Amino acid sequence: MLLYLGSFSPDNRRMTVFTSKTLYTPLRKIDDALVSVENGAVVSVASRTDSAGAQNKATIDFGDCVIVPGFFDIHVHGGVNCDVMRGSADEMNKFEIFMARHGVTSYFPTTVTASQGVTLSALERLSDRIEATEKDGAGRARPLGIHLEGPFLSHAKRGVHPPVDLVEPSVAAFDKLWQAARGHVRMITIAPELNGAEEVIAEATKRGVSVSIGHSDATLDQARRGVKAGARHATHTFNAMRPLDHRAPGILGEVLTNNQLSADVIADGIHVDPTVVDLLFRVKGIENLVLITDAISATGMPDGRYQLGTLEVELKDGRCLRDGNLAGSALTMDRAVRNVMKFAGLDLQQAVRAASMNPAKAVGIKKGTIEPGVDADFVVLTPTGEVRATIVKGVVVQ
Ligand SMILES: [Zn+2]
Repeated sequence: MLLYLGSFSPDNRRMTVFTSKTLYTPLRKIDDALVSVENGAVVSVASRTDSAGAQNKATIDFGDCVIVPGFFDIHVHGGVNCDVMRGSADEMNKFEIFMARHGVTSYFPTTVTASQGVTLSALERLSDRIEATEKDGAGRARPLGIHLEGPFLSHAKRGVHPPVDLVEPSVAAFDKLWQAARGHVRMITIAPELNGAEEVIAEATKRGVSVSIGHSDATLDQARRGVKAGARHATHTFNAMRPLDHRAPGILGEVLTNNQLSADVIADGIHVDPTVVDLLFRVKGIENLVLITDAISATGMPDGRYQLGTLEVELKDGRCLRDGNLAGSALTMDRAVRNVMKFAGLDLQQAVRAASMNPAKAVGIKKGTIEPGVDADFVVLTPTGEVRATIVKGVVVQ
């Protein structure tokens, strides 16, 4: 059930004001914060002490909580028993409400490698949903574009992606996916060492797609050529990557040292040791590290068997496994934020940045900040990072 605020009703353009003890934009901290919202967008952000106040306006006070930008998950496959490649409209609604309850206001539904037929029809359905959300879509996490995880991945580092469906990169193969998605592909994970990868990276970059290197056995030199072709991000750093060796640093040597690249990490404490999450923040800096969940349909569900694309995966004790390999996670973004506060000693403001502004910047979409003119997408957190409320385009998710 959704609570529609006065500000969102078409015949009532009255402004709504949200107040709280603290707000992170996230670069600035504002005490006694007051955010004015009209028609789903932020009109102003101020401190109550230097504002005229909120008389005659609908005010929602979040007390001692912290208002921060809504989280943006650029790599998520599903949740609450919904897989984004096959979920019905009803299942997708439930999944998007579930994500919003965990602080996510924007996301990229992420494909896994599958047969061409399955992939193309998934892309068409996801594009329908993205277009429908553009017109309507408030009160739930909103899909803003598609992340293609595959089919241009390394056989050596494919993880659970089915080998029979991996494809050698070509602009023609990429274009087929692009056409099925009607241009809604916004991100692609690709192994830069594959024949044809550089051409695909260059073409995808030209079309405004954020190209991320990953599922890769690339040497340092091959990774550098991928970056030269246009790649600017790295997918679940350390997972499904040639390991770092001090004499042959490989792809990780490039990801860890090139400041042009942002990088994401699954901070569930299972995919990457907490100490290595700490190391990543130290190396990439708070401005270049992005939190993702890589969550699958098992997220938010009891132990059992669940779908990931066309694969069956077992959830047991917080791990998603297929034949002994990790197959996505059961992580939620709010937990990732709390985890990195513990793992890397970040404060809430820094941790929030890695889940909001940084992913938005990595994919070139204007989200993840609270400032006049942006969509009113917020999360209301306790000072320890527990979600108290989520607001999408001015609508409080219930
Ligand atoms: Zn994934």
